[in-house]
Amino acid sequence: MPQFDYPCPDCRATNSLHDVDCRFEGVPWPDVEKAYTDLAVRLTAGPVDEDDLRAAVHGDWDNLHRAALDRLKRDGRVSEGNGTLRLLTPEEFREEVSEPTREPMRTLYRHGSVPGCHDNAVFAMVAWYEMVGLSWSETRENVISWLEDSGTWARGGFEEATPAQLVDSKRHVYEAGYGWKEKAESAKRVIDRHR
Ligand SMILES: [Zn+2]
Repeated sequence: MPQFDYPCPDCRATNSLHDVDCRFEGVPWPDVEKAYTDLAVRLTAGPVDEDDLRAAVHGDWDNLHRAALDRLKRDGRVSEGNGTLRLLTPEEFREEVSEPTREPMRTLYRHGSVPGCHDNAVFAMVAWYEMVGLSWSETRENVISWLEDSGTWARGGFEEATPAQLVDSKRHVYEAGYGWKEKAESAKRVIDRHR
């Protein structure tokens, strides 16, 4: 199955298998990619007002452009301040995503995992860092730090002897590019009950 550089603006699929309720199911990928590249052409030229960005896309501005822009904002690739949109540099983006600020990942990141959802939580952390574009070694380093700093490792309940062994046992999650959302949501439910 072909893989695409840009995620579906709705469900984040990067191939033709959209989520069941995705509103862009069946939209040709060249159209999706065109929406992103239209935005990128203007955004890489420098900060821009949203109105000017729309105007720059000429008469083509449509739902797909709107959704692609929302996706870039939600994924933290574009920042918005005083009506001005700015594309983050790759370095800024990496900084930004090292600390997830949106739910359900925010809860996992801040509070750490608890026994009963370790599997889902670690899976979600690995899948999250893969999704935002970190390499495996960056992902590994971030998840190991998270296990230690969030108190997760200290809570126990792991078969592995070290955080590194645990993260290495989830490498297949990174390589398969699994989604993080469902696992993160179910882990959050368990964490919330323990708080
Ligand atoms: Zn989709």
